[in-house]
Amino acid sequence: LSLAYTVAACQQPSIPVDYLNADAPVEQRVESLMSQMTLEEKIGQMCQYVAPLHIEESKKRIKGEELIHNDQWGLYPGMSADSLRSLVKEGEIGSFLHVKDAKEANELQKLAQATRLKIPLLIGIDAIHGHAMIEGSTVFPTQLGLSSSWDNELLYEVAKATAKEVRATGMHWTFSPNVDVARDPRWGRCGETFGEDPFMVTQMGLAFTNGYQGDFGEDNVLACAKHFIAGSEPYNGTNASPMDASMRQLREIWLPPYKAQAEAEVFTFMAAHNELNGIPCHSNKMLLNDILREEWGYDGFVVSDWMDIERIEKLHHVAGSPKEAIQLSVDAGMDMHMHGPNFLKPLAELVRNGNIDENKINESCRKILTAKFMLGLFENPFVDEGSAAKELYSQQHQELGVEAARKSIILLKNDGLLPFSDQKKILITGPNANNHRLMGDWALPQPEDKITTIYEGFKQVFSDAQVDFVNSGESLRNPDAAALDAAIAQARGYDAIVVAVGSNSLRYEKYEKNCGENVGRSTINLMGNQLELIKRLYEINKNIVIVLVNGRPLSEPWIKENIPAIIEAWEPGSFGGLAIAEIVKGDVNPSGKLTMTFPQHVGQVPMVYNQKPSVFFHKYIDSPSKPLWHFGYGLSYTQFEFSDLQLSASEIAPEDQVSIAVTITNTGDQAGDEIAQLYIRDEVSSVTRPVKELKGYQRISLAPQESKQVVFELVADDLAFYDIDMNYVVEQGSFKIMVGASSADEDLLTTNLELTQSKSMNK
Ligand code: BGC
Repeated sequence: LSLAYTVAACQQPSIPVDYLNADAPVEQRVESLMSQMTLEEKIGQMCQYVAPLHIEESKKRIKGEELIHNDQWGLYPGMSADSLRSLVKEGEIGSFLHVKDAKEANELQKLAQATRLKIPLLIGIDAIHGHAMIEGSTVFPTQLGLSSSWDNELLYEVAKATAKEVRATGMHWTFSPNVDVARDPRWGRCGETFGEDPFMVTQMGLAFTNGYQGDFGEDNVLACAKHFIAGSEPYNGTNASPMDASMRQLREIWLPPYKAQAEAEVFTFMAAHNELNGIPCHSNKMLLNDILREEWGYDGFVVSDWMDIERIEKLHHVAGSPKEAIQLSVDAGMDMHMHGPNFLKPLAELVRNGNIDENKINESCRKILTAKFMLGLFENPFVDEGSAAKELYSQQHQELGVEAARKSIILLKNDGLLPFSDQKKILITGPNANNHRLMGDWALPQPEDKITTIYEGFKQVFSDAQVDFVNSGESLRNPDAAALDAAIAQARGYDAIVVAVGSNSLRYEKYEKNCGENVGRSTINLMGNQLELIKRLYEINKNIVIVLVNGRPLSEPWIKENIPAIIEAWEPGSFGGLAIAEIVKGDVNPSGKLTMTFPQHVGQVPMVYNQKPSVFFHKYIDSPSKPLWHFGYGLSYTQFEFSDLQLSASEIAPEDQVSIAVTITNTGDQAGDEIAQLYIRDEVSSVTRPVKELKGYQRISLAPQESKQVVFELVADDLAFYDIDMNYVVEQGSFKIMVGASSADEDLLTTNLELTQSKSMNK
């Protein structure tokens, strides 16, 4: 019957389908609904507001305090939670972000059901490493931590689990993945990214998007590729500061992950806070229209970032009024306004006065409604309020959280102190040793019983040893000298000391953040008295393990030179404390590898592995011209040997494919995982090319003495680049093929591949 109805509807387009009929095709339901909507109702769909309870709580929390970044106008002055709720009833809001829980989601949907057309709300949230803004969720390692696993499959599973938790709370859209390529550790948001390599960011971004979106079923959510574009190498390291980039740099570094997202049909894009080459990204037609829609054929919708349409006028001064800012943004291709009042009426006026083409509004509205139909929200906008209790922090998600934490932690140095063998008295200290900073940014306070701190992890794992904790002071920006002295006084008589240092990205903690969004730095050392703590402990006891819990690369060469064992944990989430202790004990063999270079000194920034050949033609006179820790680096308790690098052909034509095989042997006496990395270098090219470019990676498990062959497939497209006229080409000639355990020359086997012809790749 329903099929007959659908066919009939197609044959007679003049008879509109009932948009509430679930059996009708989505396109027809959208058109039928839109034919009944007023201009204001259509623009209402483009308006996204912060949820009433969030606004109410924020107002309470910041009462009397100065707001960060003069964003007072961000909290809807003069509006109460109730006035926001009335706007829903009037059809002026199509979407919310930062809804508190399933109960609030249902309450808001109920208001939307009371409107003339009963259009459900689309609810978005920053569920970027688990549904961590919601109490009781599974918090996975941050993106930078997850990327250190070099395990796309794992990332896919994490995104899938996150989507399930998001849907269980009545929300439908996550502002993730962040596919910015992070090339500056001064930038506080490095932890939100998959690191510095465009190829890796592309692969991992796809794993996330596919995991979130699936087939848009009831456990899936819309994903959002953000932030479009180039905000991850800000001019002076501070968030949202300008970016000036050549088209070559854009095409080679920043655009590829976004292009892949567009091809994978990520449902939404988010514009970036920053300006690009003098034009704010939020009013940048070249980005939002020419590249995204015209060139890539993107069909989803673009959401603005927090207050950034307003900032076209207020910050960038390229519009003379708020209304002109709206005009510039919508005209450039913006489909949804995040976070704000004062959008609907001015935009309706702009349309009525002929300054904005009404078709633009129709296009935006059409895409937003399509999402709502596809997600099944017209059939059921509500969520069973009991489902959160079942799905959040489920047994399966806990296991995944443990696996993710174990795989993302990196052993940076081990002079033989690890794993612990006969240490019976262990002291745990440092500002990050016994708190929730393991959760990272975009996480709200979680219940005590759902997070294992480092101290708790050690007590659990070393149940037959004496494990003590001493507080050395938790503030990283206003160090507590007395607490440090007290800690030193208690630090004698231990077999080993574990010192957890790093940064604090937590929102709403009692101490100020020194990492995360809007927390830029002009230095990249350990803040406060952390180095002093380590040095004074070292005077007492040389058996020190440093655990870094941090959201961006931090550099202290003294530690590398002197401390026998160093672990980079990033911000490993709910089970971080457990995984760190397991690694120290040797129950888990560490296997993560770095996905961002650690410079020695802030003056070396930007320091990336895929640098151009001339970068250190002349060396620094006051510091090494090498990183502290390099891209792709990480140790294990066992040893791996790479051998027998072979190509299936030493020459290929542009249409051919070549297999690259290498044998990896676990030569040690413990099982472990190794990450094989494939890099290429174009030996002679018409424009300068990086000294190395990552083109493949594989994580494999090997038993002691076991060997396995790993095979990478390479096609000509992997060798392509933009020539002098910005045509995408491959050039005949020789390519160096490098395979091994890290990006360092000494870790790579090399061979040569000849490309027999040049070819335009028509990209
Ligand atoms: C951030 C986005 C985030 C949004 C909503 C902005 O400040 O830049 O990444 O999705 O806020 O919370």
